[in-house]
Amino acid sequence: MPTLYRDYRPQKFADILGQNHLKITLQNELADAKLGQAYLFCGPRAVGKTSMARVLAQAVNCERRKSGESEPCGECAACLSIRRGQSLDVMEIDAASNTGVDNVRENIIASARLAPSGKMRVFIIDEVHMLSLSAFNALLKIIEEPPKQVLFILCTTEVHKVPATIISRCQRFDFKRISPAEIVKKLSFIASQEKIEISREVLEDIARQSGGYLRDAESLLGQVLALGEKKIGVEEVELILPRHHNQEALDLLDFLAKKNPGGAVSLINQLADNGVNFKNFLEEILLILRKIMLQSVQPGLAEKLGLDFGESLELRISHLSAELPLAACLRILRRFLELSQEKSASIPQLPFEMAVVELCLKAGSDDKSSVNNASNRPTASLVKEASTPKERAVDAPPIIAADLNEAEVAARWPEILIKIKKHNHSLFFVLQNCIPLALKSGLISLRFKYKFHRDRLLDPSIKAIMEETLAEVFQGRVTIEALLDENLELGTDMPVAAGPTDVAAAPITETKKPGGVLGGLMENFGAEVL
Ligand SMILES: [Zn+2]
Repeated sequence: MPTLYRDYRPQKFADILGQNHLKITLQNELADAKLGQAYLFCGPRAVGKTSMARVLAQAVNCERRKSGESEPCGECAACLSIRRGQSLDVMEIDAASNTGVDNVRENIIASARLAPSGKMRVFIIDEVHMLSLSAFNALLKIIEEPPKQVLFILCTTEVHKVPATIISRCQRFDFKRISPAEIVKKLSFIASQEKIEISREVLEDIARQSGGYLRDAESLLGQVLALGEKKIGVEEVELILPRHHNQEALDLLDFLAKKNPGGAVSLINQLADNGVNFKNFLEEILLILRKIMLQSVQPGLAEKLGLDFGESLELRISHLSAELPLAACLRILRRFLELSQEKSASIPQLPFEMAVVELCLKAGSDDKSSVNNASNRPTASLVKEASTPKERAVDAPPIIAADLNEAEVAARWPEILIKIKKHNHSLFFVLQNCIPLALKSGLISLRFKYKFHRDRLLDPSIKAIMEETLAEVFQGRVTIEALLDENLELGTDMPVAAGPTDVAAAPITETKKPGGVLGGLMENFGAEVL
């Protein structure tokens, strides 16, 4: 089986997937020769901590890297020996199997005092939280006063087990899970290098199953490549990747949202006839509901946690979210969670049928259909409803809205979202997935990560609602421009406040303190930070 993880290990910062903020910081420090002497890389497993550490070790030792540059050349003797694991200057220590103080004294302290043969001696200590207390104390002493030309990179998946005294001496970098979209990109690169054609559906499936862990994804891809086929589609991989039924899971949730028990029960029986394993099917439904729940709680949160279903499914999920308010979603989630713990019955589909019938009959007070029929009305009536402010706008002088910078737009954004939510729940959802830029000469740019969200906004009737609302809030004519930015990091850029009465998103940019927007939002809407 190909060892893809080793073959395609990143050799430059540019090769490392995701972790953009961390890469930029490290590269700036390298270019400005302002590197610290101790770094703590924390985050989930298999997201690139040791890869980043190795690239950093290579960069500090590279013989050809000029000042002002940050990438290692990858070709000089130092780069090559580090890459092959033969460098005497770069020591990788697995703290999990060397927990004691003697190990720290012998392997780290003693050799840290020796001058490096090249530029710098680098200690990469993996799983550092496994060290014993006395080992940590010994390590602390050397980190407090590190010899010149020594660099410590401590990696951990459990930063809470690392003593605060150590953390405070290190520059801390928090690694995030890699988004499935980024994983798909890397996998298709590998596939093209291996000259194997793999369908996008299969790649998205691998990314989804890996849950944001690149190494797992690469190992699954390795199994797929080992099939030895030149062209690989869903059917070829059926034995490796269990077939999923996401579309059917969404169909079922659609029936529940529309309170159609007949449709739901027929679907369940159709699946039973096809020999679908209900336990697995239920897991798929729970994942989708979890996504909808997280999305309603905080935009970008689901993505941050690696819950990304690929573009085609995301579109359906976003439509479904509009139909399922948070309370309804929780009710279904609770019932299905119960169901997943029940023992199997003599008629396997019966407990499932009962659950869906119950969910359809018991219309909770939370359900949209029982309280508010707005979402079931045809789009035409929505447009008509929305045209009232437009008529007013025609009477008003057509002045262009005054210019606002990005921060000022962000500060008004929650107000816009709340207004939009009253008009159109699905547009509200779409807007939670974008970040607005400055308003200039009556033109506002909205950045979207996903094409389908952007396209939804560009739908003429939707765009009209949006522009009217913007005109109302910014008191002047506003035209929208919707941009696509695949690298947009919604999760990190969008702290959000959610209150009991309303859920509002306040996209803000990295450079701004969250206090302003959140503070204003909390004041205006009585929201709390969750
Ligand atoms: Zn080099």
